[in-house]
Amino acid sequence: MSGILVIAEHRRGELRAAALELVSAAQAAKRGAADKVAVVLIADKPERLMPHVSVGGVDEIVTVKISAHDFDPDALESAVGALIAARKPSLVLIPHSIDSFGYAAALAAKGGFGFATDVFKLGYEGSEDSGQAGLVATRGGYGQKVNVEVDFPGKDTIVLAVRANTFKPPEGVSSPTVTEFTAPPVRSRLSSRSFIEVSSGDDVDMTAAEFILSIGRGIGEQANVERFQELAAAVGATLGCSRPIADAGWLPKSRQVGQSGKTASACKLYVAMGISGAIQHLAGMKHVATIVAVNADAGASIFSVARYGIVGDLFEIADALRTHFEPGS
Ligand SMILES: Cc1cc2nc3c(=O)[nH]c(=O)nc-3n(C[C@H](O)[C@H](O)[C@H](O)COP(=O)(O)OP(=O)(O)OC[C@H]3O[C@@H](n4cnc5c(N)ncnc54)[C@H](O)[C@@H]3O)c2cc1C
Repeated sequence: MSGILVIAEHRRGELRAAALELVSAAQAAKRGAADKVAVVLIADKPERLMPHVSVGGVDEIVTVKISAHDFDPDALESAVGALIAARKPSLVLIPHSIDSFGYAAALAAKGGFGFATDVFKLGYEGSEDSGQAGLVATRGGYGQKVNVEVDFPGKDTIVLAVRANTFKPPEGVSSPTVTEFTAPPVRSRLSSRSFIEVSSGDDVDMTAAEFILSIGRGIGEQANVERFQELAAAVGATLGCSRPIADAGWLPKSRQVGQSGKTASACKLYVAMGISGAIQHLAGMKHVATIVAVNADAGASIFSVARYGIVGDLFEIADALRTHFEPGS
């Protein structure tokens, strides 16, 4: 058993960002140069996606032509299952996404594969020299309060659904070999009338923002949100928030940073105001190079990841900042 299959997800023929992140995850999971990475394109027109996945670290592209234009869990389960049977890879990476929820668990259960979802770290434990090192996948547990390391003793093939925004897409291009694979015919149980794109009502992309000013429950009440919207606009930041703010509907869910929200992937400066620093919030921003935290409580966990900390009232600090950025000041 060797080789890594990356199942590239697309939405109606448009490659999803997670597909390329999986290529980097595959690099992290490689045991050596002999462990080849193959990106699998399962689509009605897979050849159209080929240029987009010819990126650094990809050795091969496998095209699998299916009739479905929209996502079809039966077609995916059948095609990936047949490919695993034919190639016997040691590892199969798929995105942890709404699509993979529809087929990955069934695929793993029917094939008797090792399986973990929402994985954000990969590594090996044990002796590489003796060939006994086993793959260890890390995911959250107990409501994301602890990190759980999962191993897969006795499993020849392991299927992992990898959390989005945890691996950076690879840089550079490659010239992978291209192989066609014929999927077995499948009887789909799905029928659809039309496709409707759901709009979040807020087109901000928190993952692309370089400067984020995030507000938490410390702002007290909804009436204060506008004040921070103005402050963010004045300092040139994208306004983000912790989960209670999004849950209360004070800001759209797309603005929430953290484990069940967005990861501040491109962020260089993160200002957290009135955010305590729960582990779930830190999951989305603790990697940022410069974190500035403002909190009235000197013992708040947010200060453990902050480069600069201000113990004080966030409204006073907000006013001081605002004055500083006022035109003519
Ligand atoms: C499965 C799961 C997923 C989750 N996902 C996320 C997620 O993606 N993102 C997320 O953020 N949370 C998430 N959470 C929730 C998380 O556990 C915390 O409850 C949440 O992050 C707390 O938000 P907060 O820091 O804004 O509020 P609090 O913890 O209530 O902190 C408010 C802070 O404001 C400070 N403060 C109050 N008044 C002032 C003032 N006047 N001036 C300065 N400081 C002041 C307080 O000292 C306090 O530290 C998740 C939880 C679970 C169980």
